[in-house]
Amino acid sequence: MADLATLRARMVERQLRRRGIEDERVLAAMAAVPREAFVPARQRHRAYADSALPIDAAQTISQPWIVAAICQALELRGGERVLEVGTGSGYSACVLSLLAAEVVSVERHQSLALQAREALSSLAVTNVELIVGDGSHGLPGRAPFEAIAVHATAPAPPPALVAQLDEGGRLVVPIATAEDTDLLTLLRRHGTDVESETIAPCRFVPLLGDQGF
Ligand code: SAH
Repeated sequence: MADLATLRARMVERQLRRRGIEDERVLAAMAAVPREAFVPARQRHRAYADSALPIDAAQTISQPWIVAAICQALELRGGERVLEVGTGSGYSACVLSLLAAEVVSVERHQSLALQAREALSSLAVTNVELIVGDGSHGLPGRAPFEAIAVHATAPAPPPALVAQLDEGGRLVVPIATAEDTDLLTLLRRHGTDVESETIAPCRFVPLLGDQGF
């Protein structure tokens, strides 16, 4: 089998670039982050599989394409403060850390947050703050955010998160439908108006808590 660096480069070309990810900063970040550092040891040989993979607490690390699509939709240029809901393994937080100035990530499972912290510090990532708790209502005391990424499916765009967007801010969140698939959705706030756009069908674990299921 090819080594992990080769598999990572191949993932970027075949799974991302060929499937519509064109933001060069996102492609470079995905090429830089070792996904194997965020998957359980028994899954390491599948680190660059074109799929989500199981992690502890019956949760998943997202498919690489989904992480890239979320990051691309957030239109990050490097100076932003980003709120992430659903740290999971910490993989997406690590990618975001290369695209923005500061990432605050909330996870409801303490065990996952602890493992994510370990993985991030093993890679010397210093601009990600991890918080254990219900992220569905965001972090009102820390708002506004220029970008918010939610990695779990909500029944509808959580009003508390929309309210924490800065002027022109972007929120990416999977929204449940009556069918089996969820819709990865981009919301952008302009004054009191919120513009909404569907990015792609997707499948996530449910967002639990206050503004979730
Ligand atoms: N982005 C992650 C994947 C996360 S899976 C990665 O790259 O690995 C979604 C995560 O959202 C799960 O870990 C789940 O525990 C968490 N989650 C679900 N509801 C939540 C809530 N209300 N607040 C914080 N985290 C939540």
